[in-house]
Amino acid sequence: MDGQFNKNSEVICCFCGESLFVKDAVILNVQPSIESDETQIFFSHKEHFTEKIDKSIPLHPDFFEDNDG
Ligand SMILES: [Zn+2]
Repeated sequence: MDGQFNKNSEVICCFCGESLFVKDAVILNVQPSIESDETQIFFSHKEHFTEKIDKSIPLHPDFFEDNDG
C-alpha cells in the first residue's frame, strides 16, 4: 500500500458511507477498465464487501479473519 495511509487512518466504506479504520477495511484497488493506466482505491467493511460479492465467487481467506474490535 502506498504511504499515505497508516493502520489507524480513518476511511469511508464505499458501500455504507460510514467511517472505519484502514486496519479493519478491505482495500479495493480498482482498475476501471483494461485501458485504464491508473487505479482508484476504495475501502469497505469486510462484511459489506463479502455480502455484495456473489456467493459463487471464491474469496481469499483473509476476508474471514475476524478483526472486529
Ligand atoms: Zn460498510
